[in-house]
Amino acid sequence: MTDVLVVAELLEGGMRRSTLSAVNFAKQVAEGTGGSFDILAIGEGADNAASQLSGYGARKIFTAEIEGGYVAEKYAPTVAEVAKSGDYGVVSATATTYGKDLLPRVAARLEAGVASDIASVAVDGGKIVYRRPMYAGNVFGYCTVETPIQVVTVRQTEFEAAAESGGSSDTESVSIAEDDAASRVEFVSLESQKSERPELTEAEIVVSGGRALKSAENFKTVLEPLVDTLGAAMGASRAAADAGYVPNDLQVGQTGKVVAPKLYFAVGISGAIQHLAGMKGSKVIVAINKDKEAPIAQVADYFLVGDLFQVIPELTGEIKKA
Ligand code: FAD
Repeated sequence: MTDVLVVAELLEGGMRRSTLSAVNFAKQVAEGTGGSFDILAIGEGADNAASQLSGYGARKIFTAEIEGGYVAEKYAPTVAEVAKSGDYGVVSATATTYGKDLLPRVAARLEAGVASDIASVAVDGGKIVYRRPMYAGNVFGYCTVETPIQVVTVRQTEFEAAAESGGSSDTESVSIAEDDAASRVEFVSLESQKSERPELTEAEIVVSGGRALKSAENFKTVLEPLVDTLGAAMGASRAAADAGYVPNDLQVGQTGKVVAPKLYFAVGISGAIQHLAGMKGSKVIVAINKDKEAPIAQVADYFLVGDLFQVIPELTGEIKKA
């Protein structure tokens, strides 16, 4: 029997939807082992997040209200204390930037082994077996973790958002734990870019541009009209992000974001394995490239050979007419 503690991610005073992937994972482990799961909502708006999470079947929701923005060093001691206070076998979060930043620090405090970025989970003879990508997603490995508490981050693209199951969870407020590392850091301010577009990892359609766009200006004048016509999120290859055509947080791939939208456009992107690692789980892939031998052809459902500077404005115009 394994109990799971899910660390919720908060955004603008409420629960971020990505949390529900970790809840889905926790339900699977709880069901497979005959255990239960609890949720910890930590940060500004924890009480509100707890009420949003109330109908998902958690035995209990802990709240830790922390003023100011997220700082991993400030949050990790509280998460670790809550994890130690219960009889948890697994502490988990979704493998967003937040989960990837916070959970390693929690694992260090718990002296726990980690399974990061897992794609699925199974319970085999009481043992929890994780399936996770290796070698830039070219193979999947199966692993078990042998420490008494295991720390796990789960791929949002592989674990669907849990559905509400009714009922309402008990809530309990917990005190904020501090340690040396926490007392040495302070939240000063957050500067974030506000965008009308959907969030890259949550969008149903993603349009990504590559080095072939040649400039930031071309991303604006050539790609953005297609992005906005489709109501899509914009992404980019690392070559485009490194060249400064778009901010780095739009990078898709092994060292960027992992996306799995219903529809993914790769525009002027060659399809290096490191890029594929971040998007090949997309349901339908459309590639536009002037080289018919480009490796992206191997994963594309639709491959249009042509010059993007001609194809993209034409395509945008046709979609607008439709
Ligand atoms: P290129 O490889 O230069 O491809 C440009 C493509 O555009 C070509 O296929 C070309 O035929 C086509 N093209 C040119 N002109 C036109 C035109 N007018 N119309 C249509 N098509 C045209 N990359 C990522 O994307 N994400 C990552 O997370 C990532 N992580 C990495 C991690 C490591 C450790 C390493 C070593 C590399 C990583 N990379 C990553 C880089 C990756 O290896 C590639 O270099 C990068 O993806 C190439 O970007 P690109 O496809 O935009 O550019």
